[in-house]
Amino acid sequence: MSFSTPILLVIAMLAILVVGRIITSPEAPGRIAFGLAAVASIWWIAMVVLRLNSVELSDKILFSRLAWFGIIATPLFWSAGFLDHAGFSQVTRRLPITIILSISALAGLAALTDGYHHWIYTGVINETRPTFSHGWLFYVLLGGMYLCMLLACLMSISQLKRASRLHRRQMIALLVATCVPWACNAAFNLFGFRLFDDDPTPFAFSATVLAVLFAQHRGKLFIAPPIARDIIFSILPDPIVVLEPSGLVLETNPAAEKLTGFSRETVGTKLPPSHPLMDFVARDTTSETGKPTVRFDAMQKIFEVSVQPLEHWGRRGNVMIVLRDVTAREAAQKSLSDAGQALKLRLEENLRLQEQLEQQAFHDHLTGLFNRRHASTVIPPVISGASEDAPVSLIVVDLDYFKQVNDRYGHDVGDKVLSTFARILSDSLQGGEMAFRYGGEEFLVVLPATNRASALERCARWRHDLATHRFVELKDVALSFSAGIALAPEAGTSLTECTKAADVALYRAKISGRNTDIVWGEHLDGMVGDGPAENGKAGDRRANRGRAGL
Ligand code: GH3
Ligand code: MG
Ligand code: MG
Repeated sequence: MSFSTPILLVIAMLAILVVGRIITSPEAPGRIAFGLAAVASIWWIAMVVLRLNSVELSDKILFSRLAWFGIIATPLFWSAGFLDHAGFSQVTRRLPITIILSISALAGLAALTDGYHHWIYTGVINETRPTFSHGWLFYVLLGGMYLCMLLACLMSISQLKRASRLHRRQMIALLVATCVPWACNAAFNLFGFRLFDDDPTPFAFSATVLAVLFAQHRGKLFIAPPIARDIIFSILPDPIVVLEPSGLVLETNPAAEKLTGFSRETVGTKLPPSHPLMDFVARDTTSETGKPTVRFDAMQKIFEVSVQPLEHWGRRGNVMIVLRDVTAREAAQKSLSDAGQALKLRLEENLRLQEQLEQQAFHDHLTGLFNRRHASTVIPPVISGASEDAPVSLIVVDLDYFKQVNDRYGHDVGDKVLSTFARILSDSLQGGEMAFRYGGEEFLVVLPATNRASALERCARWRHDLATHRFVELKDVALSFSAGIALAPEAGTSLTECTKAADVALYRAKISGRNTDIVWGEHLDGMVGDGPAENGKAGDRRANRGRAGL
């Protein structure tokens, strides 16, 4: 006992240290499994030490049997840690760990009850060491362990090509580390190589497992790549979903668990065909210009979708779907386009109002002709272009006895007459000619490049059109007008001079019996420059008396 006590104490402390390290050390791939492998191998060593220090054969056999828990658990946990490190993290979840523990416990139980069935040991060959002849379970368990470790190595090797350079180097280092206990075990079984006069395998396992744990704990780089990736995957705000073509969910990150139809339990279940993501299962968007979007109505969110086929990684038909929340962007775009549309509408409305204002500013609302204000803007340039050869005719037209139309038939009929006559005038206009409503029932027509004869001709045509127009309300009463014509530049070179001259001529037409046209400068003896108002009244009265029709 003197030899084993300090060693066992050291072993116990080592075990406590390892367990403590596992609990306190940062998350690292395979950490738990490697730690458990270390504990199991320490258990194994402890039993070896106790056996070495035993005197009685029965004690030696007991410790050899007790060692079986470690013999099985060590390589199994080692393989699990190794696989976790290579990216197969599912092997170190709670269930596989429990399964490994159960297998190890069952193997331990089988070893403890070996005295009854001899499935592991069939007999003792050497009592001092001791060495045994083996039963079928021994070979099954040993074969199983080797197979397990071989499988773990092969699966890790299959992952080598997708690992980064640094990570690959670490995995190769782990593979080499795996070979140490194997080599020791092979050397022990084939060539009788011994450590402390016993099987060196548990020592080799302990040494390599402790070295791996030490490397994980101290060498940050050793654990960095897979951890960084895992962390990125888990903290990424963009939902990521890996799907099989059938809709089976293979992987999700926490962000994806918030999507409609997803939860923590979605991995391993199938999405229904109606799920929005199913449209993207057989689709590769990497070459598409402009990313497609998917709408999750229940969440009131819109996501931009990138679909990455995983064929490259040996997963034929599987796709990784990365979603980016673009709800805010889409809303901003929509409100921007709404604002743009509203602005466009408002601009159009402004233009319409502006046109309406211009129309109202320059036009007479009843007849639609230009108004008097507009005349003062547009006529002067026309007059200034007048010459003896191409005179500009300004014609002031005044309806005869119009007041009586209003009085007898009503103001509305008067309005109708005004607008009808305005249309007669405007319909006759040709290029450059303009008609204005100059007063109540008074119109001004400007005819560029029109001489006296043409002006009179135009008046005659209007007179004819007015007289022959049938106003139902007037019951066949014919209407007429009087016109005063001024020819620029003869009658004047400004608008005032010309309209004054035309007014004088009109006045003359009125007093000469109405329904006639007078050209300024003709038949105006003693009237040019005279105030027409006074004479006008007398003339009016005379004329009114002479008018019998109305
Ligand atoms: P004269 O032959 O001497 O020109 O006689 P008149 O009756 O045509 O002329 P007067 O100046 O006596 O009357 C003009 C009338 O025109 C008076 C007014 O009621 C009418 N009037 C002016 N503007 C409008 C209008 O916009 N609509 C209607 N219905 N009547 C108007
Ligand atoms: Mg008048
Ligand atoms: Mg009149």
